[in-house]
Amino acid sequence: MTLHELLEIQRLDLEVRQLRHRRANLPQRSSSETVANEMTARQAKLDELTFERDDRLGDQQRLEAEVQVVRMRAEGDEARLYGGEVNGIKELEALQHEIAGLRERQSELENRVLTLMEQVEELNGPIEGLAEDQMASEALLERFAAEIATAEADIDRELATVLEQRKVQAELVDPALLSEYQRLEPSFGSATIVQFDGTGCVGCPSQMPAVEVDRIRRRAGDDPTNCQECGRIVLH
Ligand SMILES: [Zn+2]
Repeated sequence: MTLHELLEIQRLDLEVRQLRHRRANLPQRSSSETVANEMTARQAKLDELTFERDDRLGDQQRLEAEVQVVRMRAEGDEARLYGGEVNGIKELEALQHEIAGLRERQSELENRVLTLMEQVEELNGPIEGLAEDQMASEALLERFAAEIATAEADIDRELATVLEQRKVQAELVDPALLSEYQRLEPSFGSATIVQFDGTGCVGCPSQMPAVEVDRIRRRAGDDPTNCQECGRIVLH
């Protein structure tokens, strides 16, 4: 008789399903997904702040170049003022006036440069913090990936063992019965083969008709039969 082997196959199939479920639902998978989502959101914030910082930095550099031009013009004018080339009082006054204007413009530009430098500095703090967080998350993802790979390898080894055991058992079972079990298994899972408890099929939600109970009772020791209510294989 091959009933014990068939039950063993049902048990091994359950084990296979559980192992595959465990493999597909490793906790590190959902943790990785959470971390990856956090990284996406953080990267958007990081890109936004970096864009803003670079924008300010661009303004700062443009104004610094402008300061340089104004300063050189002022210095050129001062050289002319003290070089004795300009003699007329009006021309001297005009030159002094221009120098004063240039120095004022330079000072105003320098103040704007300072403000921008402060803003750049203020943005650099959070940018560095976010970049560090991204690196920490990256390391965490790598750790999860390594843990997943290890767990998968462990489960795959277990699966290979169980599938090998199933293969051995399958060779001991009547092929017709095995194929009947395999036909029903997708619908009934680990309750494809059920015990007859003396009054009915334990898989059935409804009461087994007396005539059916009687039919199964009389088959005790024979090949298993299908429950006529639900179709499960009933062992007696
Ligand atoms: Zn049934």
